[in-house]
This record gives sequence, C-alpha cells and structure tokens, in this order.
Amino acid sequence: MKYSALTVLKQALTGHKGWQPAWRDATPAPNYDVVIIGGGGHGLATAYYLAKNHNVGRIAVVEKGWLGNGNIGRNTTIVRSNYLLPGNLPFYELSMKLWEGLEQDINYNAMVSQRGVFNIFHSDVQRDAYARRGNAMRLHGVDSELLDLPTLKRKIPYLDYENARFPIQGALLQKRGGTVRHDAVAWGYARAASRLGVDIIQNCEVTGIRQENGKAIGIETTRGYIGTKKLGLAVAGASSLVAAMAGLRLPIESHVLQAFVTEGLKPLIDNVITFGAGHFYISQSDKGGLVFGGDLDGYNSYAARGNLPTIEDVCEGGMALMPMIGRTRLLRHWGGIMDMTMDGSPIIDKTPVENLYLNAGWCYGGFKATPASGYCFAHLLARDEPHDVAAAYRLDRFAEGKLIDEKGVGAQPNLH
Ligand SMILES: Cc1cc2nc3c(=O)[nH]c(=O)nc-3n(C[C@H](O)[C@H](O)[C@H](O)COP(=O)(O)OP(=O)(O)OC[C@H]3O[C@@H](n4cnc5c(N)ncnc54)[C@H](O)[C@@H]3O)c2cc1C
Repeated sequence: MKYSALTVLKQALTGHKGWQPAWRDATPAPNYDVVIIGGGGHGLATAYYLAKNHNVGRIAVVEKGWLGNGNIGRNTTIVRSNYLLPGNLPFYELSMKLWEGLEQDINYNAMVSQRGVFNIFHSDVQRDAYARRGNAMRLHGVDSELLDLPTLKRKIPYLDYENARFPIQGALLQKRGGTVRHDAVAWGYARAASRLGVDIIQNCEVTGIRQENGKAIGIETTRGYIGTKKLGLAVAGASSLVAAMAGLRLPIESHVLQAFVTEGLKPLIDNVITFGAGHFYISQSDKGGLVFGGDLDGYNSYAARGNLPTIEDVCEGGMALMPMIGRTRLLRHWGGIMDMTMDGSPIIDKTPVENLYLNAGWCYGGFKATPASGYCFAHLLARDEPHDVAAAYRLDRFAEGKLIDEKGVGAQPNLH
C-alpha cells in the first residue's frame, strides 16, 4: 500500500477500514541467503538497502522483542554530520544526505526536521577547536558556520550568557542538522523492507550461532533453527553478548545512557542546542516536550534504566545553560544500552568467523548513522568488501593502533 495524500483522503471517506499492516509479521523459514540479527534501526536499514540495491536472494531480520524496543526508540533523535576526522566525516555526511531523501525513498513520514544544531562554546580554546572542526567540515563540502556572540544572542536569546562559571562565547552551527522521529525510522524501514520481500521476524530471540568448520551456518532461536549463507549482527547494546555466541570477544563495553522528556510546553526551542561546558543537549518535540540528555551513567550494565545521580547531573547541565527550564516538570525518563567502543567510533566489518559480519560500536551517536550504516553494511554483506566511506571502521584497528578517536580522550569508552 503506497502512502499519499490521496490514500489518506480515500481512507477518510471510507471510514479508515482499508489500512493494511505496515509490514508482514513473518514466520521463520528454514533457510535464508542473509539473516540480520537485530530489528533496530541499523538492522532494518541494512535489510532495506540489501533488498533495494543488491540482488542477494532471501533476507530476514530476526528481532528478540518488538521493532523499536531498543535504542532506535529510546534516543534523543538528533542527526548531524559535524565530525572532524577523515574516517568519520564522509560517512556521517553520506548519512545526512540519505536522511535528506529518506521520506521519499521509503514512502514514510519520518518527520525529518533540519532545524539546525548549535554547539555552544565557552572559551577561546574551545572556540579554536570548534573552528577547526567547522573548517574540516567545509573542506569536505559539509555546511558549518562559526557564530560570534551577538549573532548567537540574536538567534537564541534565552541562554544564560553571563553564567559566572560557564560564560557563553559563541557556537558552531550546522544548519542541515536537526531531528528525526526515531521510532518512525524503524517502522518506515521495516515497511519498505517488507514491501521488497524481506521477512521481519519479531519475538524471536537468537540464543546461539551455529558454526561448521569455522563458518557461521545458522542461528538457534526461540522459534527454532534458521540456516543462512551470511549472518549480520546489528544488536547495538547486546553486541558483546551475541558475538560471544560465536566465540568472539569485542572491544566494546555496554553502558547505560538516559533520556528525558518534560511536560508539553508552547514552542520555545526551534533547534538543537548542545552545552559545551558539560554533557547536555536539548531540543523540543512536536508535542511540546523538551527532550534532553547528558552523560552515561558511568558503570557497565545491560539494564535499560538509569539512576538518580545522573538525572541530577544532567539537570544541572540544563540549568547552567538555560536556568528557566528548572520551572518545567520532568514527565518521563528512560535508559538505553550503549555499545561503547574504545575509541568512540563504530565497527562495520567482517569477523574472524567466515560468513559472520559485524555492525556495532555506535556509542551515543548511532541514530544519526542509521541510513549510512545500513547502506554500508548492506554493501559489505553483498560484496564482501567495505564501502569507501566505511573503510576505516575495521575490527582490527584496535589491535593495529589505527584508532578513530574523535574526542582524543584515549581508550576510555565512557569518555567518548
Ligand atoms: C538515551 C539515548 C539517547 C541517544 N541519543 C542519540 C542521538 O540524539 N543521536 C544519535 O545519533 N544517537 C543517539 N543515541 C544512540 C542510538 O540510539 C544508537 O546508537 C542506535 O539506535 C543503535 O542502533 P540500533 O537502532 O540498531 O539499536 P537497537 O534499536 O538497540 O537495535 C538492536 C536490536 O537488537 C535486538 N537484539 C538484541 N539481542 C538480540 C538477540 N539475542 N536476538 C535477537 N535480537 C536481539 C534488540 O532487541 C534491539 O531491538 C542515543 C541512545 C540512547 C539510549
């Protein structure tokens, strides 16, 4: 069923009786050509681009819960491509370009909103670092603007510019950055993949990876054994658990990250703002809630819930940036499990087990990467070679010392 204004009108006139399920709820077949474990954003995007761009035969996505239960439905929806390092910048810019055409491509309203991302700076040193990043972006053809104080004050008048501890000096702006409705991305990719014949199998937990002579040949699941010629892992926070089923130990730690939403307010914040003196970022959803987040909870965990000290810390960051948000009431908060690598950058690569491919290590930033991650992982799975823009995301870079350490903080996953 194609979605269009005409379809909405037709359904309205016929009592909305003709809407079809957005995707087929498939039962597992005994064998596939490619199986992707994980029905989050990355797994579904991979299946979609595999079916659309590569002729690989039968494809299935196997998800232990329901689509959108993981980080794809838990993140703060920010998309941007304001990266510095050559290993990252072209990849995230490809993602931004795919976001820009996504809704037409998958025929789904994902509420892509390029409302601008402002990274606030508070010192001369930080300004220089942001200027360097902005210049790197411009050299790669990515938009960026360094805003001085008067310009920033005109654009966002309500920040606490005179904060004694963290006075604001300006911002780096990427106008093409913004937000995308997170769970619509999962539903949209699922629907588009299903239309191309992909089997989406929910409530099917993978409990084992079967190997024969060093090759992955299938998966044990709560709904029986499924054989496959190629197996892709895209399970985000559960990456180390699922990789261990194949005997692999990954350079990844799982950490909790929380997100927060306030009661609905009248329109106030019409962009995305990040606080440069701590870890705090904020935007406003179309329903009016202020959506914000901050730092990791600071301990390893597979639990998708966080603790009170981090709530206090995040709210302190918010109060330092815009004290008036202290008057709003926090409505909801939740946690997601982040797959933190040792250098803060992802992995899209083959593994030492033949026919087993890995997409993992997305840290806090994997939502914005969803389209490019799916696009490049599909390329790798279909052609057995990395896509040009994802060539640096190798698994062996940690052994080789070829880290992509965007923040320059070293092998300390919770600081990336
Ligand atoms: C609070 C929070 C805020 C964030 N904010 C941003 C942001 O603003 N911008 C940004 O770019 N990124 C952000 N992120 C990061 C981003 O959400 C993730 O990096 C990204 O969503 C991870 O990829 P995914 O969507 O495929 O993961 P998920 O949606 O977690 O998908 C993985 C799937 O694998 C399934 N799975 C796990 N184990 C098994 C198994 N054994 N068998 C079958 N299925 C299994 C899970 O059920 C899950 O559905 C945020 C994350 C959190 C938690």
